Amino acid sequence: MSVLSKPYFHDEAAAFAFVEGIIWNGSPVCPHCGCMGRIGAIKPNPEKKVRMGLKKCGDCRKQFTVRIGTIFEDSHLPLTKWLQAIYLMCSSKKGVSAHQLHRTLEITYKTAWFLEHRIREAMRSGALAPFGGAGGAVEVDETFYGREPGKKVGRGAAHKIKVLTLLDRETGVARSHVVDDLKASTIEPILREAIAKEARLMTDEAHHYRVIGGEFAQHGTTSHAAGEYVNAADPTIHSNTVEGYFGIFKRGMRGVYQKASKKHLHRYLAEFDFRYSNRAAKGVDDEARAIKALEGIVGKRLTYRGPDKRLA
Ligand SMILES: [Zn+2]
Repeated sequence: MSVLSKPYFHDEAAAFAFVEGIIWNGSPVCPHCGCMGRIGAIKPNPEKKVRMGLKKCGDCRKQFTVRIGTIFEDSHLPLTKWLQAIYLMCSSKKGVSAHQLHRTLEITYKTAWFLEHRIREAMRSGALAPFGGAGGAVEVDETFYGREPGKKVGRGAAHKIKVLTLLDRETGVARSHVVDDLKASTIEPILREAIAKEARLMTDEAHHYRVIGGEFAQHGTTSHAAGEYVNAADPTIHSNTVEGYFGIFKRGMRGVYQKASKKHLHRYLAEFDFRYSNRAAKGVDDEARAIKALEGIVGKRLTYRGPDKRLA
């Protein structure tokens, strides 16, 4: 026996039971009329094209499956393959490429690409509690990735895509944003919305943090330009945790995904944020992480025009 021999990875009925357990928790809800009682199961019958997991609502008489209203709705792929894909993406620290998924799951590259972006959408967290709400440290830093569309390659980072990451050191939750520039007017609203006033803000000495820093309980800075990564007077003032996060993100993007355009980068960041925020060091094992991703499949339907040419 191994993790990969679990029935829900191979048996479609078991896969439906598993997903229904997570989404409905024992009481199915009709997506057409919202009723929760008098819902009957229809026995699957492939010869008569009766689908697996089909239910019928006794109130509105309409039929549905647990796929409706989730990232699975527009897909014909068996749930077993979806669950395999989610498990692989949740259990690999740096992610899984669409090419790898295409080979491992024996699906087309195009399907693998669609699958990955939908799973990233499931991983995207909605509104989070304000970071640093209990007076803890929140590290904020920026990194650069790939190419900003329409910018000439120059010496600095002006031609690169800018990523701003906020990391709550107490809860270990990371939240990343793709930003157009590093002006204070761009960064301030993001910090103001996500970070509690009680927080201790930790940044480097960049200009764009100077003014907003005063809005929090403390603003601790280190001078990266002077080679200082931990404040000499107070060693709790540093941004090493968010630097560590950037390391995982960059190794994953370089080694696994290779290239992402600005249009799609926020989804890759959602994936890295998700895995980091639910990592093994916080006691979240691979299966628990996959279940957490499954809890995010509702209300995240997306339609795409097709694979990014640059990724193909
Ligand atoms: Zn109904």
